[in-house]
Amino acid sequence: MKPAPFAYYAPSSVADALDAISRADDPEDLKVLAGGQSLVPMLNLRLAQPGTLLDINKLGREWGNIELDPAAVRVGALVRQRAAERSAVVTEWCPLLAEALPHVAHVQIRTRGTIGGSIAHADPAAELPVVALALDAQLHITGLRGERSVPAAGFFQGFFTTALAPDELLSRIDFPRLPAGSGTSFAEVSRRRGDFALVAAAAVVTVREGRIADARLAFAGVAPCPVRSVAAESALRAAEPAPDVVESAAQAAAGALTPRADVHGSASYRRHMARVLAIKALTTALERSVSPGG
Ligand SMILES: Cc1cc2nc3c(=O)[nH]c(=O)nc-3n(C[C@H](O)[C@H](O)[C@H](O)COP(=O)(O)OP(=O)(O)OC[C@H]3O[C@@H](n4cnc5c(N)ncnc54)[C@H](O)[C@@H]3O)c2cc1C
Repeated sequence: MKPAPFAYYAPSSVADALDAISRADDPEDLKVLAGGQSLVPMLNLRLAQPGTLLDINKLGREWGNIELDPAAVRVGALVRQRAAERSAVVTEWCPLLAEALPHVAHVQIRTRGTIGGSIAHADPAAELPVVALALDAQLHITGLRGERSVPAAGFFQGFFTTALAPDELLSRIDFPRLPAGSGTSFAEVSRRRGDFALVAAAAVVTVREGRIADARLAFAGVAPCPVRSVAAESALRAAEPAPDVVESAAQAAAGALTPRADVHGSASYRRHMARVLAIKALTTALERSVSPGG
């Protein structure tokens, strides 16, 4: 199939992009084209039939950079997934993102797909949204009403649904730098290498003076959007890092999930894998954390 007809704009600045949005008769009828690795198949299958396509690829000068800030790794929405994967800044300062990226599709797709596109698309089985959630990333949004930023916890709102309004663009993702004593890990099960996750777990822990000072655990593939496990996080906080602590936190996490069955796996299989992957991710994250006092 071929896409239904649409008007095409390719602005060369953010100001021009906003101007194009302001001139759209109905912002709901407009779709943003970034890497096109999710949108183009949807257009070709006519699952999406926008009246207007706003190609933001020429905004790369403004939104295509990775910068190291004292507080965060700032990743422009148009940074290609492959560029982030190969970035020394990401490898050193945001190792959870670096570890998750090779799980996203295949090299050819990552060469074109963008970090912002994956996060804005918010597929419940995608790797980058769950990384953003586990790291408490800050999502920067630009629109006709100005700029705003939303924490990842408020950004992912449901099945392919985010806090972005139809007339807004995701411009940058700030992945906070972690304090000393922190470790992170990403674990996933998928049918084949390069497939979306059946279940994925992302863990972030900080160990201070021999105790877990902070812990975040997030899952993909078990709910309509990525979710954090409050039950596991509170079971881990202030505890001494030990296998039984990790196992009971993972059990608490899995017990609180209500995944849906689909052609790829039953609900009980997904819940089981959530527990297994939580143990794996938390154990590795704890091993990677370097505790100054313990
Ligand atoms: C064969 C195949 C396998 C794949 N496997 C995986 C996988 O295993 N894991 C995974 O996570 N992904 C996978 N993907 C999807 C891939 O990662 C996409 O690159 C990603 O989901 C979307 O990024 P994009 O830049 O291509 O966005 P596009 O396809 O251009 O856009 C996707 C959606 O996001 C919106 N959007 C994009 N950028 C912005 C922005 N800056 N502001 C506002 N809205 C925006 C678009 O309007 C559109 O609705 C796969 C894709 C293919 C074709």
